[in-house]
Parts: sequence; C-alpha cells; structure tokens
Amino acid sequence: MIEVRTRFAPSPTGYMHIGNLRTAIYEYLIAKSQGGKFLLRIEDTDQARFVEGAVDVILKTLNTVGLTYDEGPDIGGPYGPYVQSQRKSIYQEYAQKLVGLGGAYYCFCSKEHSETLDQVGESSVPAKHNCSCKHLSEAEVSEKFGNKEAYVIRQRIPEQGTTEFYDLVYGSVSVENSELDEGVLLKSDGLPTYNFANVVDDHLMEITHVVRGSEYLSSTPKYNLLYQSFDWKIPDYIHLPPIMKTAEKKLSKREGDASFEDFIAKGYLPEAIVNYIVLLGWNPGTNEEFFSLSDLEESFNTEGLSKSPAIFDVNKLKWMNGEYLRRLSLEKFHALALPYYQDISGNAADLSKVSALLQKRVDILCEIPEKVEFLNSLPDYDPVLYVHKKMKTDLVNSLSNLQSVREVLESLQTWNLETIEESLKALIERLEVKNGQVLWPLRTALSGQESSPGGAGELAELLGKTESLRRIDVGISKLAANF
Ligand code: GLU
Repeated sequence: MIEVRTRFAPSPTGYMHIGNLRTAIYEYLIAKSQGGKFLLRIEDTDQARFVEGAVDVILKTLNTVGLTYDEGPDIGGPYGPYVQSQRKSIYQEYAQKLVGLGGAYYCFCSKEHSETLDQVGESSVPAKHNCSCKHLSEAEVSEKFGNKEAYVIRQRIPEQGTTEFYDLVYGSVSVENSELDEGVLLKSDGLPTYNFANVVDDHLMEITHVVRGSEYLSSTPKYNLLYQSFDWKIPDYIHLPPIMKTAEKKLSKREGDASFEDFIAKGYLPEAIVNYIVLLGWNPGTNEEFFSLSDLEESFNTEGLSKSPAIFDVNKLKWMNGEYLRRLSLEKFHALALPYYQDISGNAADLSKVSALLQKRVDILCEIPEKVEFLNSLPDYDPVLYVHKKMKTDLVNSLSNLQSVREVLESLQTWNLETIEESLKALIERLEVKNGQVLWPLRTALSGQESSPGGAGELAELLGKTESLRRIDVGISKLAANF
C-alpha cells in the first residue's frame, strides 16, 4: 500500500492566515488518520516578497497548535531540502528536461512582452498561443543562446482537447486546453514560478494528496499537463473553499481577523482556534462540537469536507474559547490570566481567588483587565445603582441595610469567605429581609458597578477588611446625601 503523504506549503508572508492554518490542519489530519506523513515545505521563490523572520512565524505557529511535521526545513528528511530557494538547480534540471519532452519551450521575448502575455492569461482571455518563440527551430534557439539572450521557459499547452480531473471536494473539473495560458515555468533569473515548483516538488516528495485553496482549482489542469508530460502520477486533489468574513468579504489582516497571531494576542487559546476552524468546512457527521487534534487524528475523514465557503463567526469562536477556558484547571487558567493582571495593585488580595471568579465569566483573556479594574479603584458611581426592582431595594432600605452590614463586618475578627457569609446570613435573618436587600447594596458598594465577577461575600474577601469598610462608607455617604 502506498503511504499517504501530505504537505503544508506556505509562502513566508510574515503571518499565519487563518485559512492557511486550516489547510495545514486538514493536511495533517489526512496524513495522520491514515498513518501517513505530513511535511512542511517553504515556498519562497518569490524573492521580491521576502519578509525577514517569516519562516519562524510558520514554524512557531505549527509548534503552538501541535501540528508536528515528519519532514521539514529545520528537521530535514529524505526528500530535502524543504525550502524552495534551496532547490534552484532541481527546477532548472527539470525545466530543461521538460523542454526536451516537448512540454515547454524557451521564450526570448523581452520582459515587457512576456509580462503582457501573462496578464492576458490571468484575465482568462482564451487562447494565448501567440508567442512566436514556441515555433523557433533548434538552430534558432542555439543562436540565441550563443548571443546570450535572456530567456524564460514557458509551458507548452496542447492547442486542442480538454483537460479533466477529479477533485475530492469540487468533483469533476474540465477545462478546454485553448483556455489555458502558456505561463512561465522558469524565470529569467533561473527561479521557478509556483506553477512549476509545486509540481516538481510534489512529485519528488511523493505527495499523494495535494490540499490547498480553491484559488488554485483553475490552474490545476495546467499542472496536470505538466505531470503528463513528465509521465508522473497525478496526486489526489482536495481544494478548499475560502473562509469568509461575510458572504462578500474576505478575512483581512488589517481588520485583525485573518491572522492566527492576532487571535493569540487577544487571548484566544490555540486549542479553541484549532477546534473552531476545523469545523469551518468540515462536518464530523455528528452533533459533537468539541474536538482536540488528537481526537481528530482518529476520526477525520475527507467525506466531511464541504465546498461551500464558510463564514468565520467570531462570536462563535469567542463562545468556544470560553468553553475551553472553563475546562482548564484553575492552576492553568490562573497561569494564563496572570499577565492580564499587571494593573492590579497589591490590595487586590489573592489573585488566584480573582482567577477562580473570572474563569466562570470570561470568554477571552483580554476581557480580564476591564473586568478587574474595579478592584484597583472604586469607580465613581451613581447611587441609582442601589435601586433594583427585583431585589426589592431602594435608596432608603439600601442605606439602612448597608449601615447594619458595616457594623457586622467591622466586628469580624477573622476575614474569610466563610466568616463573611455567615455573618451576612445571620444579619439577613435578624433583620427579616430578603437576601438581595442586604447582598445587592453590599455588592454595589464594593464594586461600584452594575455587574461584577463574584457576589458580595467574594468581593469582600478579595478586597480585604479595610478596603471593604472604606467602600461601604463611600456607599453610605452617597446614599445619605439623597436625604
Ligand atoms: N505557496 C502556496 C500558498 O501559500 C501553496 C499552495 C499549495 O499548497 O500548493 O498559497
């Protein structure tokens, strides 16, 4: 049986696009679910777009999400090198070979002319077989070589016939050869274009399944003609629809919703991002929504892949991230939350207690600073906050209950959640009032806001006795000022 081999072949752009990451995940899962190999190849032949440190971003991302590759630029492997700019001589050798096989020709047209031809091709104007170089005789070509004329190597496309292939997601695709453009395979600087390098590498690296964005669907017939000219086996194709922001709009790096690192910086967990994006374009066939990469290594199948473009719903991701946060141990959550507490000063007491409250209430870690700001300093609030219909509180009963709370809490010798809650309970019984009539005014006095992580007792414990009593005094004077 042939071993399944997939590859992630990103161009080093300086950031990891969410759509590319999803491609990498599917490639990884296709290989792993069939006991195959997943490899990483860096496609950096477009030197004009070189970005410093961009390869590190790719390596770091794969490492963060746990996509371990079996072969790659930093670990090597039997089919290396895995960086296209280090494979220049390989492409040159195969481009010459292809000319010999009749699948390509030397083109000596000036750069401007060549570029115009390419543009014609890209705008899909049919039939672009008008470059006279394809008719040069061997003698004419030798003469031009003798004159050291610059050249490119172009693909020779049969003028007639159709090229067909089957895509595992899109089904049968068929294109008239006359519509395919005779694009450049090897540029005058000796570097290949993507159109050539992907075929040579996928063949030499024995890739069995090519997984990539649907923008390559229409060029795939050209690649297949190359495979045929070389008499190479054509891999299985899996083209993926794009991930969209809305029905019309793509995700955009500038708007902060296209790059994996931007989501990490906002406090999303890698596991949650992976889980969410796997489901954008793949249906597990059950109602289950939570998957780890290792679950999927067992259960992933290509039948679940869909060809309809997926909409990236950031609220859904947020919800899922919240679920992941809640499933963490408190220790783990606390470790992740710590960097977000840097603005809380010492009086905020035991930060791991703050974490215990927040773990139930935040969906993304970056919500933390805003949620805990009140611990640092009491906001200047409007006493109307004390009035709560459901809790049956008004300014009058809030004032008198808060005064009683103050007395009870001041007399406490030991300050912890248990003693605080016991004393409040006893007070409620003694006053014969509803719980909310004591707890709501206290929570309001302590937080100075309409909602807070944690109830009155928890906040009092966190703030400590001195600060709690001080805030209660602020509340009492705010309320008293109304009479
Ligand atoms: N370097 C190409 C890209 O980043 C890869 C396409 C492919 O996987 O063949 O879009």
